[in-house]
Formats: sequence, structure tokens, C-alpha cells
Amino acid sequence: MFAFWKYFSGFAAAILISLWLFQIVFLNMFYESMKEGEVTKIGNYLLSEADSKDFEKKLSEYFQVEGTKVQVIDEEGHLIYPLSWIEMMMHPKILKEKEFNEYFDGVKDGEKPYRVFTTQLKNEENPTIIYAGYLGKTQGVDRYLMIQTDLEPVDSAVGILQKLLMIVSIMSLILALILSYFISKKLSGPLVRMSKTAKILGSGNFEVHFSEDDYSEINDLSNTLNYATSELEKTMEMRKDLISNVSHDLKTPLTVIKSYGEMIRDISGNNEEMRNRHIDTIIKEADHLTMLVNDLLDLSKIESDLVEVNYQWEDLSQITSKVMDRFKIFFEQNDYNFNYIVEGNCVIYCDSKRIEQVIYNLVNNAINYSKDEKELTIKIVEKDGKVEFHCIDKGVGIKKEHLKDIWDKFYRERDNHIRPEVGTGLGLYIVKSILEMHGFDYGVNSELGKGSDFYFIADAYKNDNEKLD
Ligand code: ADP
Repeated sequence: MFAFWKYFSGFAAAILISLWLFQIVFLNMFYESMKEGEVTKIGNYLLSEADSKDFEKKLSEYFQVEGTKVQVIDEEGHLIYPLSWIEMMMHPKILKEKEFNEYFDGVKDGEKPYRVFTTQLKNEENPTIIYAGYLGKTQGVDRYLMIQTDLEPVDSAVGILQKLLMIVSIMSLILALILSYFISKKLSGPLVRMSKTAKILGSGNFEVHFSEDDYSEINDLSNTLNYATSELEKTMEMRKDLISNVSHDLKTPLTVIKSYGEMIRDISGNNEEMRNRHIDTIIKEADHLTMLVNDLLDLSKIESDLVEVNYQWEDLSQITSKVMDRFKIFFEQNDYNFNYIVEGNCVIYCDSKRIEQVIYNLVNNAINYSKDEKELTIKIVEKDGKVEFHCIDKGVGIKKEHLKDIWDKFYRERDNHIRPEVGTGLGLYIVKSILEMHGFDYGVNSELGKGSDFYFIADAYKNDNEKLD
């Protein structure tokens, strides 16, 4: 708030200082040239009227102008006009020859009709502007026009203006100080409030709300901050979820492994069949732990942009077959009905390792979320320059309202897990990140209780397709 006030006051002071400078530097010059212009105008007018009959009358009009002296002289410096009775007899000489030559330099020789200049006369306090012009010959006598204007009125005008400006300056400075105080208070008020709120937010309290104001910019800022707060809150929630999910997911298999280990030591050590069953469980749990750790590693790589991508033209059906080999034994053991449909040329531009991971996660989910309907269809079709990949199951399906959330990090619907120990809530987030990295379209069609169809669509290889990157 103090900073605002300082800037406002500085701004007002800068304007006043420039006004003062302007006045001191330019005003005198401006008045002088204005006065010169005025005198020149009168002089030129009188020169043009020199031959008119009522010239003297016209001359007399300008005697009344305050601070201005209009005189007509002959070439020896004798005054011709205006003359009082006494002066007429005395035939006074008002300019010495030297002065006359100086004043009428150039005019006297007929080089120019007039000249205007500023000089300091001896017995005058202020400088004088002099107009010296040639009026022509009358009755054999050369007549010269001399107009003198004291510059004093200019200075006095400046003096008055300066006083006025001084008063105006002081008043406007005071006004600026007061006004800027209130304006800055009004402007900085919401910002001060915001910074207080932000401090509370910084201390970890997400219940805060950035209040809105009349100014649209501040409004925008508080909306953005409110949005940031809610996002931050979500992230913190997710972090908490992660810790509780991960620690739960780590703890459960570890507990199982430990207790089965103890069981082998204490009970089944000598009973081969029982021991093998217990060891199988330990292996299964260790696998699950490996999966979880792998998912977490993948996630952290994806999030820190450390994934090395190696794009190449690859046959999607070959990638898929490779992944499906890993499920072969599982399908056989569990009586799975697996359909594999490939149509057309399925070459796409991708990183095969990453796409393998996508397909693995999708198939893994299809298995995890199927109950009695053990049927899985993988369909890869080339159509209209695109290659579509579908992973279709007849499992539990997804509620409409959850369709958007399933792609979120750590989102998992615990109640619909057939084997609750398998999920990490990271599978689809990793799928989404990889597909977005490739720029592929993706999505899911699902109906609760009937099954789901997870798909992605990539550009198909064309002969004229060079590298896409
Ligand atoms: P999880 O480790 O829980 O499987 P995912 O990110 O892979 O995490 O999936 C998120 C959620 O999406 C799952 O908890 C599940 O509710 C839902 N889901 C994913 N795939 C399917 C599917 N094929 N059928 C039904 N629901 C699914």
C-alpha cells in the first residue's frame, strides 16, 4: 500500500516538476516571441498604410496601446510624429546618428523593409523590442517608423503565472497526496487481503477463499488463485491417498509373505504339498509387490519427463501378440475365451515398449474387472488411414459418472475389484500419459454390468509417409 502511494505521489510530483520546468524554460521565450509577433504585426500594418490619407489617425490608434511607443522619424533621427506644439518648434532629435544606423541597419539601405530586434536601452529597466521600418518619402523627406515595446509586461505576466502556478502546484500536490492515499488504499486493499490469504494457504490450510473485488483484473487473479487452491488441495489429497494406498498395498503383501514364511518354518516345512502351496502364495505376493513398484517407477519417470521415447514404424499386431504371450498360461489355466481379430495393415508410428505397456495394462484391467464372463476380445483394425485398437471385455463395466475419473492418478473403485489386491490405481493413468505422449486418440465405451471397450486410434502407415517427427 505504501509502495502504491509512493508511486502515485511520485507521478504527481513529476508532472508538477515538468510543468515548472516548462514554464521557466519556455514561457519567457514564448512571451517574447509573441510580443515580437505583435509588434511586427502593428509595424507591417502601418507600413502598408503609409501612403493612406488618414495615416496619422491610424498611427494615433496605437499610442493608446499600453507599453508601446510608435514614432515616425526622419533619417537624421528627428522626431516627425507625434509632436506637441513645443516639440514642433524645437524639432527634437531622438536618435543619434550612430543609434539610427544601428537600428535601421539594412532598412536604411533598402535591403529589407523592416527589422525587429530586442535591445537593452540605457535608461530602461527591462529589455525593449524595437521595430524599425521604412515608410517612404513624403515631401522630399524619408520617413522611418520606430515602434518600441517594453518587455516588462511579459515578465510581469510570467510573474503572475508563476504565483498562480505555485498555488496550483501546492494545492494539486496536497490533493494528489490525499487522493493517491485513498486510491492506493482501495487498490492495495484486496491485494493485501490476498497476500494474507495466501500466507494461510501456505501454512497448509486449504479452506481459504480468495475474495473477489470490483476490479476485473483482481477478480481474475482471485479466481485463478481459487482455482490453484482447489488444484493444490486435490494434489495434496492425492498425495495423502498415495501414501495410504501405497503403504496399504505394500503392507498387505508383506504381511502375507511374512506369515506364510513363518508358516513354512513352523508348520509346513516338511509337508511338501502344503509348503509348495505356501511358497506359491509368497511368489504371488512378491509379484504383486514387483508390479506395484514397477508402476510407481513408471509413474515417477512419466511425471519427471525422464521416459526415453524411441519412435519407429511398428506393427501393432506384433506388439499385441508379444503382450498376449505373457497372458497365455493365465488364459489356459482360467478357461478364458480369447478372441484376436486383426484386419488390414496395422503399422503405426510409436515406441513399441510404451505401447506394450498400454496393451498390458488394458488387458490386465479387462481380466481384473471380469467376473464369470471370462471373455476378452482384442481387435486391431485399419480403416480410413487410421489403426484402431480395441480391448473389449464382458466384465463389470463402469458407471457413467466414473468414466471421466478412471484416467486420474490413483483413482480406483475399490468396491468393484474382483481381486482387490491387484489394483494400484495407476494403470489407466500410465495408459493415458503414454497415449497422450504419442498424440493418439483414446477413450472407453462401457456399460455397467455388461462390459467395457477401451480403445486408442493411431495414424496408419502410408507409403508416402516419411518419419512423422
Ligand atoms: P487399478 O489399479 O485400480 O486397476 P486403473 O487406473 O487401471 O487402476 O483403473 C482405474 C479404475 O478404472 C479401476 O479401479 C476400475 O474401477 C476402473 N476400470 C479400469 N478398467 C476397467 C475395466 N476393464 N472394466 C471395468 N472397470 C475398469
